[in-house]
Amino acid sequence: MTLIDRLAAICGAPHVLTGAEAAPYGRDWMGKYVTQPMAVVRPGSVAEVAAVLRLASETGTPVVPMSGNTNLPGGGKAQGALVLSVARLNAAPVINRAARTATVQAGVVLSHLHDAAAAHDLIFPLTFGARGSAMIGGVLSTNAGGSNVVRYGNTRDLCLGVEVVLADGRVMNLMSALHKDNTGYNLRNLVIGAEGTLGVITGAVLKLFPRPRAYATAMVAMASLDAALDLLNRLQAETGGAVEAFEYMPRLYVETHLKVAPNAREPFSVPHDVNILVEVATTRPDLAAVGPDGSVPLVAQLEGVLAGLMDEGAVLDAVVAQNEGQRREMWSRREMAAELMRHFPAEVDTDICLPLDRVTEFLARVLPHVRRIDPNARDFTVAHLGDGNLHYTVLPSHHDGRDEDAIRAAVEDIVQDLGGSFSCGGGRTPWLWMSCGRSSARWTRAIS
Ligand SMILES: Cc1cc2nc3c(=O)[nH]c(=O)nc-3n(C[C@H](O)[C@H](O)[C@H](O)COP(=O)(O)OP(=O)(O)OC[C@H]3O[C@@H](n4cnc5c(N)ncnc54)[C@H](O)[C@@H]3O)c2cc1C
Repeated sequence: MTLIDRLAAICGAPHVLTGAEAAPYGRDWMGKYVTQPMAVVRPGSVAEVAAVLRLASETGTPVVPMSGNTNLPGGGKAQGALVLSVARLNAAPVINRAARTATVQAGVVLSHLHDAAAAHDLIFPLTFGARGSAMIGGVLSTNAGGSNVVRYGNTRDLCLGVEVVLADGRVMNLMSALHKDNTGYNLRNLVIGAEGTLGVITGAVLKLFPRPRAYATAMVAMASLDAALDLLNRLQAETGGAVEAFEYMPRLYVETHLKVAPNAREPFSVPHDVNILVEVATTRPDLAAVGPDGSVPLVAQLEGVLAGLMDEGAVLDAVVAQNEGQRREMWSRREMAAELMRHFPAEVDTDICLPLDRVTEFLARVLPHVRRIDPNARDFTVAHLGDGNLHYTVLPSHHDGRDEDAIRAAVEDIVQDLGGSFSCGGGRTPWLWMSCGRSSARWTRAIS
């Protein structure tokens, strides 16, 4: 029997794809990395995942685990490898309302978990533009962040337990629902963020939170990034840490959005360089109650902080969403980031993290440094500023692989110098058993 026959015997022939049927699994969402998997297998149970991995182990077949295939840095590159898709492990999430947990299979789409939690008046707070495609196995494997990290943390902070199938087919059951467990080493946290190099995640126990009763959302033009940090800190103090999102979009981002997105509008009557999307939320009925004049105390709280900073000259302009439609418009501008990047054919993209008080210094230093390599390069940034995570992209003036490597190294040198991390996105280390094969040179430096 061939390997394909043996995979079909485990999962059923319709769930083993080859040739043109397998090709889409080797192509990333941006269309930047195009590979041809040897085959795709779609197990329908944990036992089938285990049997597939046992077979792969016996035959020395490289495996690339896959969930929604929305990762951006090429984690799904699978030339000649067997793609193991967990998409069929997608039973309805089991919500425990009293314990505020969800027990979820790896193939459940993130937005489906949102819907399941909402039916119980709860939320799973992780959210980002690809929530309609990304799956639980993928968000765990990349330790995804999204827009709410400033309030709820990364996926690792939202996970209590995982189930993982190791490369030899053994199933490691770490499906604890405990908030504190000091029994031995924390294997769960090792598996989360491992990008599939340690095994295939098949299920998880995740934390849920009460659904906010009101949001206050605004686009704010700031005099500088340092002034924006001041706004964040004041809002956190004023609201008891209720800032849910704090997103930075510079002028080039807004301009590109205006060019690319249908029906896009300027956020302000005059253009500004430092544009912040801020969102505050409350579960408190008194702060969410609509007054006789239509005002909401939470919104008034946000407006009060903004007015104070406007008097000081730190806030240059602000637009507060008056209804859900306006809030969605603000969010759609921010959530189009990945689509906007498609607008630039050649780029050196990085997904980095910096201490909050070093972001200004990074942006001041990095472009002059890059321009020593390519004097006409430009840069394009969008950031989850509340947690220091920047999607910093250099747009070189010409295509030259060596220059691009040098530019990436220049960016990462400054990040390292400022105490930052070069890796905040997921998906760089491709194959199960073949960890670190294609990571940045900085990876080796960081662990040595
Ligand atoms: C429009 C857009 C916006 C985004 N915004 C953000 C953002 O704000 N913050 C952020 O952190 N990320 C963001 N991302 C990237 C995001 O992290 C990934 O898209 C997502 O977490 C990956 O989930 P996925 O199901 O698509 O995983 P995949 O892309 O399928 O896989 C991701 C990695 O995990 C491995 N893997 C997949 N499933 C498993 C499994 N079951 N077991 C073990 N390993 C597995 C894969 O081999 C791969 O290395 C964005 C992506 C897009 C397209």
